[in-house]
Amino acid sequence: MRQGKLAVNGGKPVREQPFPAYNTIGSAEKAAVNRVLDSGVLSEFVGVWGEYFNGGSQVRELEKEWADWFGVKHAVSMNSATSALYAAAGALDVGPGDEVIVSPYTMTASAIAPLVYGAVPVFADIDPEIYCVSAKSVAERITERTKAIIAVDIFGHPADFQELQKIADEKGIRIIEDAAQAPAAKYEGRFAGTLGDIGVFSLNYHKTIHCGEGGIAVTDDDDLADRLRLIRNHAETVVKDHGGADLNHLLGFNYRMTEIEAAIAREQLRKLDGLTTPRIENAEFLRSRWGKLEPIQPPVIRDRCVHAFYVFSCQYDASVSGVSRSRFLEAVKAEGVPLIPAYVEPLYRQPIYQQRAMRSGPNSRDYEGDVSYDPATCPITEEMHQEKLFYTPLIHSQLSGEDMEHVALAVEKVVDNLDQLK
Ligand SMILES: *Cc1c(COP(=O)(O)O)cnc(C)c1O
Repeated sequence: MRQGKLAVNGGKPVREQPFPAYNTIGSAEKAAVNRVLDSGVLSEFVGVWGEYFNGGSQVRELEKEWADWFGVKHAVSMNSATSALYAAAGALDVGPGDEVIVSPYTMTASAIAPLVYGAVPVFADIDPEIYCVSAKSVAERITERTKAIIAVDIFGHPADFQELQKIADEKGIRIIEDAAQAPAAKYEGRFAGTLGDIGVFSLNYHKTIHCGEGGIAVTDDDDLADRLRLIRNHAETVVKDHGGADLNHLLGFNYRMTEIEAAIAREQLRKLDGLTTPRIENAEFLRSRWGKLEPIQPPVIRDRCVHAFYVFSCQYDASVSGVSRSRFLEAVKAEGVPLIPAYVEPLYRQPIYQQRAMRSGPNSRDYEGDVSYDPATCPITEEMHQEKLFYTPLIHSQLSGEDMEHVALAVEKVVDNLDQLK
């Protein structure tokens, strides 16, 4: 029992100095950037069918190394994971009248990918243990219009791919895996990101490895890889030279990654293992400490899965503690350890869905289904968001043993002294 006056009531906080920032950019990245700058070639893409249609040397080396690392046939770099998700929807030929089942508890772009192509995002509820879309809920949302599923490996834990794949195979639909938060996570020995038809990674500043902004789409399917590369770089201008009648409807964008970003991403990829292992160790440490606290349920790791621990997500049970989540988190914050309540607002709550503000998708004349964006259709998402979930990014590789001890202790101290909050 850790006694003591809680800091929120004027006691001494567990932690007085701020935590170190996550900064993994070092001399290797600087040298790589300088080599690109010295070459004078900052991007080598050309929107013409030919040698440089697929970019310059850094971009191509990154793609080769990424495909090798993850054990996939093709890696296609983009300027963001958002672009990669949009390109993936385009590659799978998602279009007006189609429905795409997606998790509501994810970064917004996962659900906008179908909308970009005039299709309808249909939100399935999440699994209460891993917060990824639940296979049972996906099965309930399948209609004759369902074209694809976008499964998100949220917080770094892979979605339930065995069950999702069964549904997809049975219905003849495809899966896009949004593994933006889960590089190096595994499901039954296979890397997250390689579990669906197309997988998407993010290299934005907030992710485990980054290059400023960037994304990578991976696939084992030659045809899908071809379509991804065309969509990345002005497809319509090159399909005549490229050949292939079924490509004639493809619209292209400029989703190209620069040589500078690719050079940084190559160095970061070499660090991925070394940056993930300490996260897993720090997460184990917090699980062992907070797992003993009655109102807190630390993250579940499913059998034969590796959780990459982008963040450490827990459930807080106010009916056990007698203190609301917000009051509890306020008290932990006063101890010097900021925890984050919930994740992003469930996507169906955005005005674009609630007011049917978009002109394509569910509002289009091509759509004859009856999708609902009523929050009551996703009760588990609502419960986690409104009442139970909290998370912390304070498990990253730059934190010392003492830092982690403070994180653990702040929560233990508050839980042991809940009476002071009543
Ligand atoms: C970060 C993130 C994205 C988008 O990544 P960008 O590279 O910023 O476009 C998509 N999905 C999830 C789950 C993410 O966490």
